[in-house]
Amino acid sequence: MLEIVPLPAFRDNYIWTLRHGDAAAVVDPGDARPVKDYLARERLRLVAILATHHHPDHVGGIAELAGDTGAPVYGPRAEPIPALTHPVAEGDTVALAALGVAFAVFDVPGHTRAHVAYYGAGALFCGDTLFACGCGRLFEGTPAQMVGSLAKLAALPGATRLYCAHEYTLANIEFARKVEPENAALAEREARARALRAQGRPTLPSTLDEERATNPFLRLAEPAVVEAASRYLGERVCEPVRVFAAIREWKNRA
Ligand code: ZN
Ligand code: FE
Repeated sequence: MLEIVPLPAFRDNYIWTLRHGDAAAVVDPGDARPVKDYLARERLRLVAILATHHHPDHVGGIAELAGDTGAPVYGPRAEPIPALTHPVAEGDTVALAALGVAFAVFDVPGHTRAHVAYYGAGALFCGDTLFACGCGRLFEGTPAQMVGSLAKLAALPGATRLYCAHEYTLANIEFARKVEPENAALAEREARARALRAQGRPTLPSTLDEERATNPFLRLAEPAVVEAASRYLGERVCEPVRVFAAIREWKNRA
């Protein structure tokens, strides 16, 4: 049975650690220290390192971990990933035999130019693309690219568990409630997320069903979201990419 454990790093990153038997893999190890401590404490051997994109809080620990363990490094072909041994892009499969799991790779540009996501065993590791009740900022991509990437991820089965790389949920929900104050699922989600955080527990993983019901960046055709985007812009918009761009900009300024 594959187990997925969050290792907190920095202020609000999670380094997702997959384990089965004595084998482990990590996704986006921005810092080597928490990973090394965990592997030593649990007597695990590192069999793979997966990176979603090149930002330092996701790749900062890779060189050290790869150097220490010789673990192969998977990451987007078109981004500068340290110690990259297995460049990947959409259509590739990352098979991790020791963990009994294989991941399909998706290109999800927007946050960065060649960001990838890994999908397997009902789990989606999507880095800084889709967050619980939010999405990543557009540092290198366009609104149209991000809308395409989010739609691609949202098309996966509703029970898919979402393992994003940051604990941003409460702040995201707070913003989402400005966009959709009447959304009852959102109010209910806020109560659940607050209770988890009050106990110091992660709000992740969420599910795609939950995101479709509450994440404004996946609800671009929802009348309330269209209405809110139009109000923000002071002009009538309905085209999904423009609705997205409006609420993304609003969130940046909130
Ligand atoms: Zn990032
Ligand atoms: Fe990040």
